[in-house]
Amino acid sequence: MARTFFVGGNFKLNGSKKSIKEIVERLNDASISENVEVVICPPATYLDYTNSLVTKKQVKVGGQNTYTKASGAYTGENSVEQLKDIGVNWTILGHSERRTYFHEDDKLIAEKTKFALDNGVSVILCIGETLDEKKAGITLDVVQKQLNAVIAEVKDWTNVVIAYEPVWAIGTGLAATAEDAQDIHKSIRDFLATKLGKEVAEKTRILYGGSANGANAHTFKDKADVDGFLVGGASLKPEFVDIINSRN
Ligand code: PEP
Repeated sequence: MARTFFVGGNFKLNGSKKSIKEIVERLNDASISENVEVVICPPATYLDYTNSLVTKKQVKVGGQNTYTKASGAYTGENSVEQLKDIGVNWTILGHSERRTYFHEDDKLIAEKTKFALDNGVSVILCIGETLDEKKAGITLDVVQKQLNAVIAEVKDWTNVVIAYEPVWAIGTGLAATAEDAQDIHKSIRDFLATKLGKEVAEKTRILYGGSANGANAHTFKDKADVDGFLVGGASLKPEFVDIINSRN
């Protein structure tokens, strides 16, 4: 079945009004296929500003993190209600930097995912193994455990996009090969089929993330289970457009 190609841009804690304006204007001016969904995720401070600049219909804006409560005494947190209030309907959740530096565990990520979805915000759900876990040969165990936590909470996966991001590939310049990514993506899809049924598995987009760039994106082009990318560093650069257009 045809799944719409999806490219997320995770700006992480980078950018300024000036640089974000340049990035968005580049996307607005670019020739981008009609059949691609792009979601750019600037730091929370710039969400409203970024959203006000986007004119391209294929491009949407997303947060990088949301909490399990809509409002209240939760200093420093991000609310899905407030995202929606400014017209933002996507968020990344479970990024490895949140899991590592902010000690977010599978249960919290699952609860955040459920809360976002229940309140109308779509989720780019990040999963992936560390280098030690890869070396130990437990990649599939790790991603299945991460997914199981979310499967226990979330029954409707329509608005979930999975980003398989091997931690060892994020920000290192060492991307997984397209062949290795395809193998893992296929295993993830098979796992989703056993847990959620074949139809859900076939419909769910699985992105690859980890040092994707303008030069390597096209090598994933013919990989049946790679439905797009979550891009960090390269999403800040002109080559982001090449990644978006890598399926053309
Ligand atoms: C990311 O932050 O999700 C990511 C994939 O980063 P990079 O593309 O820089 O490896």
